[in-house]
Amino acid sequence: ENGVQIKIGRSILKYMTGDDVEARYHEEIYRLMMTDALTQAHNKRAFTEALPREAARAQRYKRPLSLLLFDIDHFKKINDTYGHVAGDSVLRQLAGLVRPRIREHDIFGRVGGEEFGILLSVDHPADKIVSFIDKIRADIEALGITHELAAHQVITASVGLVWAGPDSKATRPEDVYAAADELLYQAKTQGRNRVVSRSM
Ligand code: GH3
Ligand code: MG
Ligand code: MG
Repeated sequence: ENGVQIKIGRSILKYMTGDDVEARYHEEIYRLMMTDALTQAHNKRAFTEALPREAARAQRYKRPLSLLLFDIDHFKKINDTYGHVAGDSVLRQLAGLVRPRIREHDIFGRVGGEEFGILLSVDHPADKIVSFIDKIRADIEALGITHELAAHQVITASVGLVWAGPDSKATRPEDVYAAADELLYQAKTQGRNRVVSRSM
């Protein structure tokens, strides 16, 4: 069947049918280049490239754009207590929790070790986005870690959220990113496990 993978020793062969095998091969290489292997989220490069593109799209269609950055709280402690394998499992579970809660064309990326970003182009006012994101934060807290070495360990995340309305003056994507980063820092210093947001 098309797409079947065959593992021989350390090599993986992928069987592809169709006329344009070469084009598919390049598509697959591109996908691998832009995907974080651990979580299957976009990697930092893909996320960074998506930001100006989505900002331009939001402006063109007069829609708000929301950017949020979230970072797992005291993640080092998880690694130190349960080991890196458990830590990796937490990252995968977290990505698995977030993905079904956002829409397919929203951009979800891993932008650092235990830091993720989401770009939402949903046409909602700021307060609705904030409560939507706070619900995800609460879901993370409720998730608990299921790992043989770390049963029922609670993990939390801090979130910096920027909502840029259609008339926003913040046209430079890097300014929006820097603002979300600053808000994330505030969420950390205000006690973690919270969303700090602002409109710009
Ligand atoms: P804070 O609440 O301030 O964010 O504290 P923290 O411990 O989460 O932050 P810190 O930046 O001190 O530590 C981040 C840790 O994330 C350190 C690093 O070992 C771990 N980490 C980064 N990438 C990975 C990864 O891919 N797998 C695992 N298991 N750990 C990772
Ligand atoms: Mg952290
Ligand atoms: Mg971090």
